[in-house]
Amino acid sequence: MVSLYTQPTSLANGALAGIATASTAALVTRQPSLIWCAAAVILVAVSRVVVAFWLARDQGVARRDEHLLELAFEIGALTYAFLVGLTAGLTLAVGDVSHLSLLTTSYALVYGVGIAARNAGRPTMAIGQLLLSSLPILAVSLALGGPGLYVLAGIVVFMIFGMISITFNVFHVLREQIIAADTSAKMADQMRDQARTDVVTGLLNRAGLNHELVEQLMRLPAGCKLALFWLDLDRFKEVNDTLGHAIGDGVLAEVAHRLADIAPDSATIARFGGDEFIAACVVQDRGECEQLASAIIGDLSRPFRIDGNRIGCGASMGVALLPDDGPDIETVMQSADLALYHAKVGGRNQLRFFDPAMTRDLVRKKEIETELRAAIRKDELSIFFQPIVDLKTGKIRTFEALVRWFHPEKGELRPDEFIPVAEETGVIITLGNWITAQAAKAAAQWPDDVTVAVNLSPIQIRAPGAALGILNAIRDAGLPPHRLELEVTESLFIEDSEHTARFMEELAGHGVRFALDDFGTGYSSLGYINQFPFKKIKVDRSFVSGPNIGKKSDAIIRAVAEMGSTLEMEIVAEGLETIEQVEAVRNAGCTLGQGYYFSRAVPDFLAAMLLAQERDGRETTARLVG
Ligand code: C2E
Ligand code: CA
Ligand code: CA
Repeated sequence: MVSLYTQPTSLANGALAGIATASTAALVTRQPSLIWCAAAVILVAVSRVVVAFWLARDQGVARRDEHLLELAFEIGALTYAFLVGLTAGLTLAVGDVSHLSLLTTSYALVYGVGIAARNAGRPTMAIGQLLLSSLPILAVSLALGGPGLYVLAGIVVFMIFGMISITFNVFHVLREQIIAADTSAKMADQMRDQARTDVVTGLLNRAGLNHELVEQLMRLPAGCKLALFWLDLDRFKEVNDTLGHAIGDGVLAEVAHRLADIAPDSATIARFGGDEFIAACVVQDRGECEQLASAIIGDLSRPFRIDGNRIGCGASMGVALLPDDGPDIETVMQSADLALYHAKVGGRNQLRFFDPAMTRDLVRKKEIETELRAAIRKDELSIFFQPIVDLKTGKIRTFEALVRWFHPEKGELRPDEFIPVAEETGVIITLGNWITAQAAKAAAQWPDDVTVAVNLSPIQIRAPGAALGILNAIRDAGLPPHRLELEVTESLFIEDSEHTARFMEELAGHGVRFALDDFGTGYSSLGYINQFPFKKIKVDRSFVSGPNIGKKSDAIIRAVAEMGSTLEMEIVAEGLETIEQVEAVRNAGCTLGQGYYFSRAVPDFLAAMLLAQERDGRETTARLVG
């Protein structure tokens, strides 16, 4: 409606023309009817222009009394059209002033035609105005008669029908365009919604989340906090791989369902790619946030029932609060992500709240990562070798390769400090290849019956082409495969055992041997000992020299040693520091020993020297390098 008034200037132009025409007719003829007519034209035209200008300045008013204004506009427009037509009709009726008749008639007809086009969007108004401005002319022409006026009457009739048809045409075109515009606006809305929605769960996706979080933050009531819960399903990959994607999608949808149930109605919930979900809720305080967090994690630890399968998936969660853990959404997201990372490292079904120390850890890790990459290039790393000794003969049977980092500022760094970082960042793949190559080169110089043991991390094994890389390294060094032993830990078997099996079988097929490292610290499932081609089990040093050393650990070593002899595996006792420990494990049935009692890890030239001494028969038993 307001659009009717939106062109006050064109309204004023029309009004001026109308006033000029009617006033001229009144002044020249001095006919009372035309004087009244002119007065009425002036009154109506001026009031319409005033209202239009007033509305143009103050849009608020227009909206408040829309109906009233619409009615006023219609009455004003129709009255004005009629007055214009009437002026023309009356001038024609006066009869003797032909130039005035020309003026008022042409103005009335032009006005009627023009207005019918202008108001085609509202055909009743347009046709009403057209008729009111032209019918008086038609009526007077027919009444007075004569050839000129009959022709005029005919033209007016044709004009009226023509304009009515044009008005309707324009109206239809306009209406179709409006409908089309409306549809495309709706489609744009729909497409925007789709672009922000995750298809599998119907939750928001990453884009939708970003948008919604900004909105939620703007609505955050004073004194409240925005809690961000970042979830990651623990065993989703396994579910997907073993049960298929349809079941995987079912799990995701069920997670979405449970989250929506447990989170407050006002919460924003999104799936953040893969198996990660984010819920953002307004909370009063930390206490409420903690309650909600444990409720969510508890709810997701319940098994899912999908297509008759009972699936225990579980989730880990990182939580951060705005403004406590970051002033803006981006920072709080980073905090929650970091907390989630710590939760994952802590094991399954864990929940961690962000702590500033996490950032410090991250910074330190980043530092180590960068330095480690540089260290490999700058040759700051070396491989040391620690002998593994035959407990019967005292002879060295194997050297375990242990990496050392001589940092120019920090001094000697233990592998425990940097291997985990190398694993987390993937540097272990480069580093591991380098270690294997170095160890194989050194071992190629030793007598044929001495083997070299290299520690392998699960990440290395998972890398594509891992087995081939190892085979290439020993071939380049000229070391026969049976002289390489790979030490792996039990942690390897909890995930992706199929891939591990393929890796081990491929290498074992070439003659490479495997040792199970740190036995007894892991997941205590004995199944895989039989399932995988192990030649050796290394009993963790905590059974030999730990604080809980005693009868119990002695019994365990005995049991393992017995199992070893049945399965024809060698049993290594790690961490032997005293002669008493050496005797104890030997009596328990261990066949091999490793530890400071025999020697620490030494550089390659010393390892070669130890072997040479041994061969010379100068040093036959026990302690080598203290
Ligand atoms: P691990 O495989 O169990 O290696 C044995 C660790 O025990 C070595 O520590 C060794 O120095 C230490 N050790 C040997 N004898 C004794 C003893 O009598 N008493 C005590 N208290 N400790 C003894 P290191 O060299 O610090 O290595 C620690 C861990 O770092 C290794 O444990 C291994 O898991 C990892 N690691 C070392 N080198 C490599 C490597 O080249 N690659 C990979 N992936 N991991 C490595
Ligand atoms: Ca080891
Ligand atoms: Ca070990």
